[in-house]
Amino acid sequence: MILVTGGAGFIGANFVLDWLARSDEAVINLDKLTYAGNLETLASLNGNAGHVFIQGDIGDSALVDRLLAENKPRAVVNFAAESHVDRSIHGPEDFVQTNVLGTFRLLESVRGYWGALPASEKQQFRFLHVSTDEVYGSLSATDPAFTEDNKYEPNSPYSASKAASDHLVRAWHHTYGLPVVTTNCSNNYGPFHFPEKLIPLMIVNALAGKPLPVYGDGMQVRDWLYVKDHCSAIRRVLEAGRLGETYNVGGWNEKPNIEIVNTVCALLDELQPRADGKKYSEQITYVTDRPGHDRRYAIDARKLERELGWKPAETFDTGIRKTVEWYLAHGDWVRNVQSGAYREWVEKQYDAAQAKVP
Ligand code: NAD
Repeated sequence: MILVTGGAGFIGANFVLDWLARSDEAVINLDKLTYAGNLETLASLNGNAGHVFIQGDIGDSALVDRLLAENKPRAVVNFAAESHVDRSIHGPEDFVQTNVLGTFRLLESVRGYWGALPASEKQQFRFLHVSTDEVYGSLSATDPAFTEDNKYEPNSPYSASKAASDHLVRAWHHTYGLPVVTTNCSNNYGPFHFPEKLIPLMIVNALAGKPLPVYGDGMQVRDWLYVKDHCSAIRRVLEAGRLGETYNVGGWNEKPNIEIVNTVCALLDELQPRADGKKYSEQITYVTDRPGHDRRYAIDARKLERELGWKPAETFDTGIRKTVEWYLAHGDWVRNVQSGAYREWVEKQYDAAQAKVP
C-alpha cells in the first residue's frame, strides 16, 4: 500500500492510473479537490478496490495521522501542491499554505508514523517529494542545463514555495533521518492536463475558435516531458533512488513557447481542420508578458539515467501527437472541468491581457 497526495490532479492522477495498471499494490489517494483536482480523471477506477480516495488536506494533521496509522503505507508520494505560476502571482497565500505549511505538516505526520514503525518496515519506508525545475530559476540562452548541483534561485511565488518545500524535505532527512527522495521535473504535458496550462489551453481555445494567447515574444524556452515518462521516473526513484538525494527528470526537449503553439496548431490542422479552411495559427494573439517570467529552463537528467537507468519512452513529436489526439477524443472531460470557478479565472486573465473573451 502506498499513500499518494494530490492524486486527483494532472500528474498525480496519471501516476495513480499508471500505478494501478501495473501493480496490485493498493493506493490511498488523499486530495483536497481544489479547482485543479478532478475525480472524473479517476472514473475508470470506480469499483477498483485497489484505489481508495479520501478528500482532505495534507495540512490536516489529524486526518493524515489517522490515514497513516490505519493503512500502514510503505511509501508516501507527495504531488499535492498549488501548481499554477499565474495564480501564484495573483494570490500567493494559497501557495505558501499548501506548498510550505502543508508539506511541513505532512512531513511531521510522516515522521511520527515512520518513527513508530518496526525496524524492518522503517528501513523500507520512503517519502518521495515531487518538485519542479523552476526552483533553479532562469537560464540564459547559453547556460548549461540545470543539474542537481545548481543553486536554488526561485523567481515566482510558486517556485519559491516549492523551493521551500524541497528544503523542508531535505532538512527532515538530515535532521530526523526521514528516508526521503526528491524529484525535480521539467514541464509536463499529456492527458488530463487542466486547460489553464499552455498546451491544453492552446488545444481547447483553438478548437473553440478563441484567441491563442502567447506571452511576450513567445521565445521563453521550456523543457517538456510527457507525463507518463514523469510517472515512470517517479516509480524508478521510489524503487531505487538513494536516500536524501534529488533527481532531475527531463526529456531533453527544449522548445520556445511559440514553437509549441505552432506545433499544436499544425497537428490540429492535420487532425481536425478548421471548417473555414483557415489555419489555427491565425488565432495566435501576443499578450503582455507575465511579470518576472523566467526566460529559459532546461534540465540535465543524466544522474537519473546513469544511476537508475531511466529513459523517457516518448520523444516530443510522439508525445505531443498523443496529447492532441487525446484532447480531440475527450471533449467531455474538457467541458466538465471547465467549471464556473475555472471560467472566472480565465476571464480575469483575458481582462488582464486586455483581450476579449469571445
Ligand atoms: P495540479 O495542480 O494539476 O494538481 C495538484 C493536486 O493537488 C490537485 O488535485 C489538488 O486538488 C491537490 N491539492 C492542492 N492542495 C492540496 C492540499 N492542501 N491537500 C491535498 N491536496 C491538495 O498539479 P500537477 O501539475 O499535477 O503537479 C503535481 C506536482 O508536480 C506538484 O507538486 C508540482 O509542483 C509538481 N510538478 C509539476 C509539473 C508540471 O509541469 N505540471 C512539473 C514539475 C513538477
